[in-house]
Amino acid sequence: MVHADGSVLQTWDYLRQHGLQGFINIWPKPTATAWKIIACYGAFEAALQLLLPGKRVEGPISPAGNRPVYKANGVLAYVVTLVTYLGLWWFGIFNPTIVYDHLGEIFSALIFGSFIFCIFLYIKGHVAPSSTDSGSAGNIIIDFYWGMELYPRIGKNFDIKVFTNCRFGMMSWAVLAVTYCIKQYETYGKVSDSMLVNTILMLVYVTKFFWWEAGYWNTMDIAHDRAGFYICWGCLVWVPSIYTSPGMYLVNHPVNLGVQLAIFILVAGILCIYINYDCDRQRQEFRRTNGKGFVWGKAPSKIVASYTTTTGETKSSLLLTSGWWGLARHFHYVPEILGAFFWTVPALFDHFLPYFYVVFLTILLFDRAKRDDDRCRSKYGKYWKLYCDKVPSRIIPGIY
Ligand code: NDP
Repeated sequence: MVHADGSVLQTWDYLRQHGLQGFINIWPKPTATAWKIIACYGAFEAALQLLLPGKRVEGPISPAGNRPVYKANGVLAYVVTLVTYLGLWWFGIFNPTIVYDHLGEIFSALIFGSFIFCIFLYIKGHVAPSSTDSGSAGNIIIDFYWGMELYPRIGKNFDIKVFTNCRFGMMSWAVLAVTYCIKQYETYGKVSDSMLVNTILMLVYVTKFFWWEAGYWNTMDIAHDRAGFYICWGCLVWVPSIYTSPGMYLVNHPVNLGVQLAIFILVAGILCIYINYDCDRQRQEFRRTNGKGFVWGKAPSKIVASYTTTTGETKSSLLLTSGWWGLARHFHYVPEILGAFFWTVPALFDHFLPYFYVVFLTILLFDRAKRDDDRCRSKYGKYWKLYCDKVPSRIIPGIY
């Protein structure tokens, strides 16, 4: 983005001419400024997570039979973060362009810092696990990569995954989206309509995330994936750098879309984000009401699936087979991918790099759908087969 204008060919040419040493020469190194910015941001978010008030929310029962308890203060933390950040800029206390100007150093520091953090998680999982939802797979690489603990905490209240996934990772997405917008404004004296569409859509997406944060605590990321390199490094490094990259590209490409096209992309993007939200909401309402609420105006069709926990107890769960969840078993990934496409397309088609996130997301979600299917098949057995018979498509209705 910085040295080759988002062009893969230009990067390739540079690498051919200068070799690995040339790459090492331009690789940004962590600096004191970068560490200071990360430390202030991390400490601020940790303080908000601990101190802001919020409703007590119970997570789903874990495989070992525990039920984690959370404080749902995500929306408040989100509002306080953005208001503080914009306030610091408005009153001339801190200029967000400093973050943009040190972005390479910040990402570089995050890459190494988060790696060390994952080592800490690995050691903690061995010597001081927070709950019985932990343990070793007997292989150091697997333990480090997939994690040792499902719900690691510092003390009783500071949930590490809520911090890494939500308050550091997802929050940084909004903070950086705003940063890119301000940088373009300060560089060109105005914000282009392409940047506006991109920023608004990314902010709508992150706002939706925090609005629904307690629901996120019921998803695979939190309820099934342990805190290891895969999820934590991803949220601490990959989200701030790759997820925000379409906006990063637009800073130096103030594309002018025109009012009609800009509004069309904006509305299409908002619609996709809404549908994605509604899929998640439908599944959670269905489970919360024990299958008694309406789905698309009708009594839902469902499968009562029983399964055995790791402690040998038999429990039952409901699988929704109508509404969005009757179109395909992971239909919610379609609007997720399209939403990302719509906040990228304002960059138009000059270079591939802004599209890296959408391509990555598509691969991630197709893999995730398969992982989830495998997990559910082994959890629910014949009941999952029944669901697959009733809803044969995995992601795209009638196609895949
Ligand atoms: P979810 O955890 O929301 O859904 C899968 C789980 O739901 C399954 O493991 C199963 O869990 C349960 N389930 C499956 N089928 C049914 C059904 N028919 N009825 C009721 N429950 C069912 O999936 P994700 O975590 O993948 O997605 C959550 C959100 O996060 C989505 O909006 C997704 O698009 C988004 N996301 C975004 C990513 C990004 O990088 N931008 C990455 C991943 C997700 P159980 O064991 O409880 O039965």
